Amino acid sequence: MKHAIIEIEHVTKTFGGVVANRDVSLDVEEGGITGLIGPNGSGKTTLFNSIVGYHPIDSGSIRFQGQEISKFRVQEIARLGLLRTFQQTRIYGAMNCVQNMLISIPHRKAKFLDMFDRQARADTEKGESLLDFVGLYEKRYLMAGDLSFGQQKLLEFAMALMNEPTVLLLDEPTAGINPTLINGLIDRLRRANEEFGITLLVIEHNMRVIMNMAHKIYCLAHGELLASGTAGEIQKNQNVIDAYLGAH
Ligand code: ADP
Ligand code: MG
Repeated sequence: MKHAIIEIEHVTKTFGGVVANRDVSLDVEEGGITGLIGPNGSGKTTLFNSIVGYHPIDSGSIRFQGQEISKFRVQEIARLGLLRTFQQTRIYGAMNCVQNMLISIPHRKAKFLDMFDRQARADTEKGESLLDFVGLYEKRYLMAGDLSFGQQKLLEFAMALMNEPTVLLLDEPTAGINPTLINGLIDRLRRANEEFGITLLVIEHNMRVIMNMAHKIYCLAHGELLASGTAGEIQKNQNVIDAYLGAH
């Protein structure tokens, strides 16, 4: 039996009259890549926001490494090692890539200017090596705002890695990226999982990507869990085909 690092049980989240998540239960396997799919508006991003403490849930339970975190704040949850990236990238366009890497460590925000600081030097080396990992080393002194959208997503991914997350939640990492960069990104996500041991939970619209990558996939529809299983099982699931795959 595989160990669940995140256990979501009966989570309901409403916005006014809109039920964004209704009684959702799912497990994120430690060390694995778990996929989350579903049509637009099915509640995927809302579930991410609930997990990382961005907003309170109405009812249910969210445990991380056995600890109830549903009442914790974003910063507390981040400190536990649970991080997310956004559908829209959050980089600092007027700073170069290395500076973005340094500023991504929240408690060291002021230090990147002090190059004599030993910690700052260690952080710079780590930042450059992660930029190398995502294929941006040559562009490390370019302003982040001058990178292509796909490169900005790679930078955002590297910025998340800078914090050495235990679990990384990725919201549509390949959205808006040109096809030649997608394969590179998938390769990096896999390597972050296999070599760095980071557990991944990935929201993804590109079926080829998620079917190739995820060990287990959950499908939401209208805020509710519609199905779960391996890629093969999900592809054959008639409910998923009717609600989602048929339209793709
Ligand atoms: P997905 O990521 O699957 O496209 P979302 O989680 O973004 O879906 O949205 C699920 C539902 O919740 C939608 O009907 C959306 O309009 C609603 N919703 C999401 N966030 C908010 C919010 N902050 N305020 C009001 N409604 C929201
Ligand atoms: Mg979304």
